[in-house]
Amino acid sequence: MQELTHFINGQHVKGTSGKFTDVSNPATGEVIAKVPLASVEEVEAAIAAAAEAQVKWAATNPQRRARVMMKFGALINEHMEELAELISKEHGKTIPDAKGDVQRGLEVVEVCMGAPHMMKGEFMDNGGPGIDLYSMRQPLGVVAGITPFNFPAMIPLWKMAPAIVCGNAMVLKPSERTPSCALRLAELLQEAGLPDGVLQVVNGDKLAVDTLLDSETIQAVGFVGSTPIAQYIYGRAATNGKRAQCFGGAKNHMIIMPDADMDKAADALVGAGFGAAGERCMAISVAVPVGKKTADTLIEKLIPRIEKLKVGPYTAGDDVDYGPVITKAAQDKIKGLITSGVDQGATLVRDGRDFTLQGYEEGFFVGPTLFDNVTPDMDIYQQEIFGPVLSQVRAETYEEALKLTMDNQYGNGTAIYTADGDVARDFASRVNVGMVGINFPIPVPLSYFTFGGWKKSAFGDLNQYGPDAFRFYTRTKTVTSRWFSGIKDGGEFNFKAMD
Ligand code: NAD
Repeated sequence: MQELTHFINGQHVKGTSGKFTDVSNPATGEVIAKVPLASVEEVEAAIAAAAEAQVKWAATNPQRRARVMMKFGALINEHMEELAELISKEHGKTIPDAKGDVQRGLEVVEVCMGAPHMMKGEFMDNGGPGIDLYSMRQPLGVVAGITPFNFPAMIPLWKMAPAIVCGNAMVLKPSERTPSCALRLAELLQEAGLPDGVLQVVNGDKLAVDTLLDSETIQAVGFVGSTPIAQYIYGRAATNGKRAQCFGGAKNHMIIMPDADMDKAADALVGAGFGAAGERCMAISVAVPVGKKTADTLIEKLIPRIEKLKVGPYTAGDDVDYGPVITKAAQDKIKGLITSGVDQGATLVRDGRDFTLQGYEEGFFVGPTLFDNVTPDMDIYQQEIFGPVLSQVRAETYEEALKLTMDNQYGNGTAIYTADGDVARDFASRVNVGMVGINFPIPVPLSYFTFGGWKKSAFGDLNQYGPDAFRFYTRTKTVTSRWFSGIKDGGEFNFKAMD
């Protein structure tokens, strides 16, 4: 079995804590590698070396740092197939979906190629007599990135690219479920010219994370994962005086108005609800049709589409729409929640609990599941299922559908399907959710905008990537300078005593 490593000072380094956890192929259930769980000493050594490397890196001019990103982007493109395979093997998503994971990370690297422009400060000429004011953006020092299992390329890239191009060093702690892609990205960054030590990849669990949170050297923490952990990390980082942005879970609603193109809405729901086995923070897990006729039509249109979905291992290529969920524990939790939905009175339209696949009996598969008549008090509505389960909650009016979306504790993404521009504008303006799609089911903003939810989907005040990332990973220093009138007023010709 493969023993994975950390990536410290430009080298693969074996774990010394003696502690490991298993990495599985979720399609077969087979343990394919063991990943080391770093000790306090290992994390502290990685931080100390990063601090040393950061000084020279910060003094390297931004244009040269951006050139490393240019080369990195080219290398990611060159190694697209290989990175996708690494992702699919540990995560279970299909190869085209894994390439999307790499691609959406690569797009953030592309924005980082413009870092010199993004890092320019402000200037005021003649703010007072002889006085100019200017501000500059300076890197923070050493920062930490802590990332989830579900986007093994995209989210580490969202963290590492802006942090590094701004002149920081980063200690990245990827998910212990899907660590291989981050290790490969670190190698590619080194090949692109990044000096050793500027990106340290430390594998580990809570102990490694807590060590990062308590380190006096770490200046900022960028986290993505589930809401309870996001809130915990935000609190501990803030108590320790660090800058923190912590992105959490989601329960994304899609409102379907009676005038929507129902075929397009149903297609969108199937892709956004079941793609990547529902393991996306921007997945749509709640459909809210307005009016009985809309709800009945939607269910009618969803059923044949769901029945056509092909579930299987990524190795089956184009024959597969989505793969397994990440672990046996996740599979059990999802099945348990489906059972709770039945027990609490929802109508189970399609049941994915008994799904099996010949030759992959030990894989962590869950078949596509559709509920109707779900109500807000049910566990399947309250909890983030993070699996291939779509719940339909019926609303009588637009206002009721809007209120439902707004009352939900999460506020990551939402969408509305309608032919009416007025209702679309009203929805976009009033809804208390960070990312809104209009006739667009997964509105992950392009990389030159920013990504972030509201309510319990995010803790902190700046979004990920785009202009906010340059604000998060730099601090502003403002200089007020005065130059007294001097040589330009003419020479002094009188012999004077020095004073
Ligand atoms: P998770 O919270 O279990 O783990 C995320 C990271 O935190 C991992 O690196 C993990 O090792 C670490 N961690 C776990 N428990 C910890 C603890 N007790 N103390 C300290 N660190 C701990 O999340 P996950 O299961 O890997 O990812 C799925 C979750 O991430 C979902 O809730 C999903 O919605 C969310 N997510 C959010 C976004 C977003 O941008 N809002 C994007 C992707 C995923």
